[in-house]
Amino acid sequence: MGDDEHDKIAWEVYCACRVSDTLYALNPFLTQQNFYSQQLRALALVAVLARKLAPGKRNVCIVGAGIAGRTLAAGFASLGASVRLIEARRTPFERYRNAAHRELHPNIIFWPAQHPTPATALPFLNWAQATADEVVEDIQKEWASGFANKVSLIHDQVTAVHHDAAGITMDLKNGEPIEADLAVLATGFKAERGFGTLDSPSYWSPNAVADESRAILVSGSGDGGLIDVLSPILGTRVTRAAHMLAVALSDSPLKEDVEKVEAERTSKMIAGTRDSEDPCDFYRRVQFAQETQDRLSSLAGSDEHLSSRKITLLYQSVSPYSFTAAPINKLLLAYFSNGPRKYVKSVKGELRNGAGRHMMASEDGDSEPVDPPSSFDRVIVRHGAEPAAADLLTRAELASLKVKAVEHSAAADVKDYDKTIFRWTKDGMRKSGVRLEVMTRAIHRTLNHVASAYDLIILNSIIVDECFTNGRPIKIQLGADDRKKAEQLRLFPLRMGPTTVRIGSVNIHRNRPLDDEA
Ligand SMILES: Cc1cc2nc3c(=O)[nH]c(=O)nc-3n(C[C@H](O)[C@H](O)[C@H](O)COP(=O)(O)OP(=O)(O)OC[C@H]3O[C@@H](n4cnc5c(N)ncnc54)[C@H](O)[C@@H]3O)c2cc1C
Repeated sequence: MGDDEHDKIAWEVYCACRVSDTLYALNPFLTQQNFYSQQLRALALVAVLARKLAPGKRNVCIVGAGIAGRTLAAGFASLGASVRLIEARRTPFERYRNAAHRELHPNIIFWPAQHPTPATALPFLNWAQATADEVVEDIQKEWASGFANKVSLIHDQVTAVHHDAAGITMDLKNGEPIEADLAVLATGFKAERGFGTLDSPSYWSPNAVADESRAILVSGSGDGGLIDVLSPILGTRVTRAAHMLAVALSDSPLKEDVEKVEAERTSKMIAGTRDSEDPCDFYRRVQFAQETQDRLSSLAGSDEHLSSRKITLLYQSVSPYSFTAAPINKLLLAYFSNGPRKYVKSVKGELRNGAGRHMMASEDGDSEPVDPPSSFDRVIVRHGAEPAAADLLTRAELASLKVKAVEHSAAADVKDYDKTIFRWTKDGMRKSGVRLEVMTRAIHRTLNHVASAYDLIILNSIIVDECFTNGRPIKIQLGADDRKKAEQLRLFPLRMGPTTVRIGSVNIHRNRPLDDEA
């Protein structure tokens, strides 16, 4: 992929996010959204906008200090812009701080388009497969030591945005209005939609996973819903099972089958929805090799315990597989619905309010009460969330972003993003202004997370200063069994920001004390 191609993707992202010459919003309607893709889109947007910032007009304001807002702010600050970051909440990454029950993986949801890699490859703010609370703590650590002194963080809520060709004015809930030459909204999503008075915890809240409840109803066939029917079966190993399955299928004809089925599904989308007319029956019939089945079953809880439970997925979509969700999650659902271990029953229907109760109304006319303690001990509603930008943009602006997300859908396709180090980071860390010591700590944390996610013991590793500037790989040493496991799961070579980690013999004589670049 040449520079022109990189520029093309960045340009698509720019077009998808442009509200006016001075106002941009990380488009909430672009599909395939997760922590990593938000970071990649943020960097792509910075790459284009930085070229447009005229001298003397480099006063940038970012709204929202989530993963996207911080990546935008770090990107602009690295390029010498004056950056203010406005965040409504007092605690950094408040929503994810207690989410020790959710494991994040950079790109498993993009399989089969992308090969799964358990670490991000960004110029800064890298992270690895780990629980959400650990991921945000890592980002926060790098932020504190690498960017906090370069970006002015303001704790306040933006209540209105006024923009014209000359610049931006933002009204704040508590403080004086703020002016800027350019602003980007990275405001993410509001709280998830609930249903009536049902007590359904947020996806990120610690009591969200119905571990021990005997009868569970999960409503919604997007990724949130699929993960929540899989969580009682696989616990926090959902992501690990997904990575294992993706790697196992990568050399099998099934990978091509999934690509075809998903292409067919997207060609039959129902206008204005994330659903397709195609029921994708392939998933109901899919069968895995015995070895793959054994490995999936070994990650699940005990058969006796799970068989005694009632796990129900309620879907309104054409089928449980027709909705826009990650193919790997659909395959896991298929295995635990149709394979030898049938734990999930899918019911087509919807939640309804009836006679003062919440009911599950199935398509075949059956209806049963769902309020605990009736048919279910736990009801989990995963019906998505509204974009927070809706509070700051006009209806016309929001509608226009929706159209642009379709017109510039290439911006959502992150297939080749992982090969992309945008032009402005080509000089490596020197240009981003992150100190070598900060980067080195981030790499150690990343390696520790990968080791812990896959139960590996790293016997020895070497990180020398040259590896950042001349591309020499970091070597790590593993025991024979761990080496085999790491090779089977294709964990290495692992690209982490500007460097690569390989398994190999470590020459400890090369290890030198850190020579920090001031
Ligand atoms: C049910 C569900 C499951 C998901 N599962 C995963 C997963 O497993 N892995 C994964 O990678 N991603 C997952 N995602 C997606 C992931 O949460 C988002 O892609 C990511 O958090 C987006 O980050 P962000 O920075 O864009 O937004 P956010 O994390 O929402 O951050 C936005 C920030 O903006 C602030 N803000 C909003 N409005 C204002 C305002 N007016 N003034 C000031 N500040 C404001 C908010 O307080 C917040 O801090 C999931 C999402 C959902 C809904």
